[in-house]
Amino acid sequence: MTITARAMLVLACLAIAGTVARAQVQSDLDPRIVQLVNGVSEERLAAILQKLESFGTRNTMSTTDSPTRGIGAARQWIFDEMKSFSPRLQVSFDTYRIAKQGRITRDVEARNVMAVMPGRSTRRIYISGHYDTVAISGGQNARNAGETQTTTFADPDSTAPGVNDDGSGVALTMELARLFSTSGVDFDATLVFMCHVAEEQGLMGAKLHAQKAAKEHIVIDAVLNSDIVGGERGGNGVIDGASIRVYSEGPEDSASRELARYVQRWGMRYVPSHRVRLMSRSDRFARGGDHTAYNQYGFAAVGFRESRENFARQHDPRDTFDGVSPPYLAQNARVNAAVAAALALAPRAPVIVNEKGQPTINRAPSGYDAHLQWQPSPGASAYRIFWREAWGPDWQHEMLVGNVTDTTLPNTLIDDLVFGVAAVDGAGHESLVSVYIAPRSTAVTDGEVKTVPQPAAR
Ligand SMILES: [Zn+2]
Repeated sequence: MTITARAMLVLACLAIAGTVARAQVQSDLDPRIVQLVNGVSEERLAAILQKLESFGTRNTMSTTDSPTRGIGAARQWIFDEMKSFSPRLQVSFDTYRIAKQGRITRDVEARNVMAVMPGRSTRRIYISGHYDTVAISGGQNARNAGETQTTTFADPDSTAPGVNDDGSGVALTMELARLFSTSGVDFDATLVFMCHVAEEQGLMGAKLHAQKAAKEHIVIDAVLNSDIVGGERGGNGVIDGASIRVYSEGPEDSASRELARYVQRWGMRYVPSHRVRLMSRSDRFARGGDHTAYNQYGFAAVGFRESRENFARQHDPRDTFDGVSPPYLAQNARVNAAVAAALALAPRAPVIVNEKGQPTINRAPSGYDAHLQWQPSPGASAYRIFWREAWGPDWQHEMLVGNVTDTTLPNTLIDDLVFGVAAVDGAGHESLVSVYIAPRSTAVTDGEVKTVPQPAAR
């Protein structure tokens, strides 16, 4: 070996040693995600809210003739604004004709405004809100207090500023569109920044889009929907600026529940000053939001809701800028940024069912062990196993295993514990957890009980 070759070998060894040393001290947090989180601007959020308020109303049936007032002016402004952020964003109107029906009081052209930022793969992650507004006689307060038996909607061109409902979700979505598209980060997933329309008429904008996505077999891994996320002061005087509620539909190991757990785990790692409060129901009592439209077409979707609501300012001309808190909205935007970036950089969740849809978990080899198998996820360099007692909502234990596709926990009863597995890449980005769901028992007429596979989380 020449001296030069030996020197190069030494250098190579040092380089490997350096890599190992760095890997050992590597943080759980990706500095690029930290930068995205830190980039959220209260000032920009406030400016968007005030601009949205200036349209007077954004009612789905309001005028499209004015350049300054009504839904036509509002949607064009959102479109132009998102287009101006970066050439990485493909901005379009996602347009539908809706005939007069129910709360749709005339034939109308409904346009969601969507900005797509393509990733290395076509699987999608949505960040969303709804830009339409509504005013009801007496507002949501009257509805909650039972003062009105039937809802009377105000004239569509009357004032409905909707700064919180849902200017807040739209401002969050637009701010993240700007941050992500100018970050220079290459994401694995395709990010979609979606401003829905006609939410107030039965989630129609979201439903039509979700229906189309399901029909076209578009893979949507997660929908993060923020609706009324700008206020920290409850109408009853209670103030909480340090938490956000996240609603998800069951059952307990549905894909949406797993997404909710991910929001809490990664949102609070990147934004520890903000508590994510998970709610094991699809939404607030007898109220709804666009994430439910995605659930109805089989997609994982969760709804973010402010910590305390002021019902007097919802669906009411009093839903104005002075009723929201840009610093609080910014915290909610940071949680969304952390979760969306972490998900979009991570590999896809492992497939944990066989071709028949049965979970690949058994008691081998002793008959009393937990033996978990999964299919490799592209881009993964390790897997993390999670488990908890079968009566409880949160993961209690986790263990990183190497780049393998099965693992055995000796003398561990799969009957008493729920197991899941996530894919982890070399930089520590963790996927959603795929959960081994027990087959459902179905009684048959001859008195025997048969089991059928549950639809898996993925
Ligand atoms: Zn809303």
